[in-house]
Amino acid sequence: MSTSVESFADLGLSDTLLQTLTQIGYETPSPIQAQCIPVLLEGHDLIGMAQTGTGKTAAFALPLMEQIDVKVSKPQALILTPTRELAIQVAEALQSYAKNLPGFHVLPIYGGQSYTIQLKQLSRGAHVIVGTPGRVMDHLERKTLNLDNLKTLVLDEADEMLRMGFIDDVEWILERTPEQHQTALFSATMPEQIRRVAQKYLVEPREIKIKSATATVAAIRQVYWQVSGMHKLDALTRILEVEDNFDAAIIFVRTKTATVELADKLNARGYAAAALNGDLNQQMRERVIEQLKSGALDIVIATDVAARGIDVPRVSHVVNYDIPYDTEAYVHRIGRTGRAGRTGNAILFVAPREIRMLRTIERATRQPIAPLTLPSRADVTNKRVADFKQKVVEVLAAEGLDFFANIVSQIAEEQNVGAEEVAAALAMMAQEGKPLQIAGEDPAPARPATRDDRRPGVFGERERKPGFESRGERPRFDDRNGDKPRYEDRPRREDRPARPAPSGDMVRYRIDVGREHGVEVRDIVGAIANEAGIESRFIGRIGLYEESSTVELPAGMPAEAANALKRTRIRGVPINIRQDEGRPGGSFGGERKFDGERGGFKKKKFGDR
Ligand code: AMP
Repeated sequence: MSTSVESFADLGLSDTLLQTLTQIGYETPSPIQAQCIPVLLEGHDLIGMAQTGTGKTAAFALPLMEQIDVKVSKPQALILTPTRELAIQVAEALQSYAKNLPGFHVLPIYGGQSYTIQLKQLSRGAHVIVGTPGRVMDHLERKTLNLDNLKTLVLDEADEMLRMGFIDDVEWILERTPEQHQTALFSATMPEQIRRVAQKYLVEPREIKIKSATATVAAIRQVYWQVSGMHKLDALTRILEVEDNFDAAIIFVRTKTATVELADKLNARGYAAAALNGDLNQQMRERVIEQLKSGALDIVIATDVAARGIDVPRVSHVVNYDIPYDTEAYVHRIGRTGRAGRTGNAILFVAPREIRMLRTIERATRQPIAPLTLPSRADVTNKRVADFKQKVVEVLAAEGLDFFANIVSQIAEEQNVGAEEVAAALAMMAQEGKPLQIAGEDPAPARPATRDDRRPGVFGERERKPGFESRGERPRFDDRNGDKPRYEDRPRREDRPARPAPSGDMVRYRIDVGREHGVEVRDIVGAIANEAGIESRFIGRIGLYEESSTVELPAGMPAEAANALKRTRIRGVPINIRQDEGRPGGSFGGERKFDGERGGFKKKKFGDR
């Protein structure tokens, strides 16, 4: 690791937050946290050059939370993020750090979400607002958001905000914040325009940069899997199962909690796995390493600190289940394999948002990391069959089969079947808890990683251009008759009562998410209600299947709603909505009907600003 700071306690955080960090399983500060937290606690403005995956959220969130007076129900911190998905993520992070701060309230506000609900939440009072620039600007204009009590302003992923055309909005907001406040700007890169904004609005900022010193790595096969369409745990077991030369693995995760959880899950799937984290005393730690050496354990799930210096030659694989904070940590992690002249394999799991970190690692190690195609069901089956055959061959070569051959002959004779059929029955029995053929479907292959893949998630699309749908002009489906379905901004309802049969014409659509993606009916209702602005009670029957689902929506969907749905993801998976074949009536989204209109509408709205 690139810092000598070993403990959060060295950074000046309060006991309350330190206790929270222990509870949520953070073991040591990441390099960006070690450097930023003390500077921010001292009250300086800051420019942090860091990207997703470095732990930058906690780097600004923890000091900011130390400033909050929970008794004052006014926004004291504002965090601007480029996307709604990031706003939600950051708000969730703050909420988790507020575990021991009763009354603390953080509110994400972003485009596409109902104004009614946002206004209600704002009027209830929030201490921290995490928002996308367009929506924050709208609320400032409407005076529904007041920043008079602002102590901290954070610009998160400033270069992304620039890239997405929000920089003018950001400046507009910066000009309307009170004089006295601390500003922190985080950006993965520092283009000229961001530099200019920093010079104009930050006061003597300290600049902190995560080093990505080049480093040579041993001759290790390095591959990455872009997390998509399948849970990491399922992908991990599939990969480990078909990897050639698998002997033992060290799997790296970020938190102590995750080491224990993953070890439990892998044990439940039949792996000999154990956790290795900073909670273990030296003796326990050595015991785990001994067990890995001797073969009593095949997998150790570790945090960076706990795995430091492990030298176990049989470790054939290192899996970066959670991406490391920096290139130094990556190089250190993968150095746990390929030891004593053996070949090593390093597998990296990369969430779409973390693609930039992948590229940084490639640059720093001066080695390309090849994409890994997830083994298909057929691959796993073939591997299991090959292993099974191998076992049979070994037994065939052994002595003492006569007794068993006799039993087979007896069964064949008694049942009047061939020995082959008896052997098939025995093979079936021999599967035990691990069937040779695995059930379920293969997920659709992920697209190759691109820069644009850095903002996925449940609602993983960009915020619409400010003003586009921000003043309640989202096109409505026929609302002349109060009982007819309408497309409009409505609050998301998580737990819906039984859905009444909708009135009016319904069209059935198919979406490419189902049970295997961990999707539930409420996810589908929530996403569609939010994205298409359709009141959830007008969403018709939902059929949840293994790999896809169907959903009935009112006919005559406006183009804007249709376009929003086309970009929608549920649990990170693009839903690829289309009309379900074989059903008459309605074309998806009435695109053709609305397209021309939408162009004009959009233009006019932008001009309004
Ligand atoms: P970020 O780079 O802020 O998006 O953080 C990436 C992930 O790292 C999040 O899941 C955080 O919860 C996690 N994380 C951040 N800091 C730490 C830490 N010091 N120890 C363990 N996990 C962390």
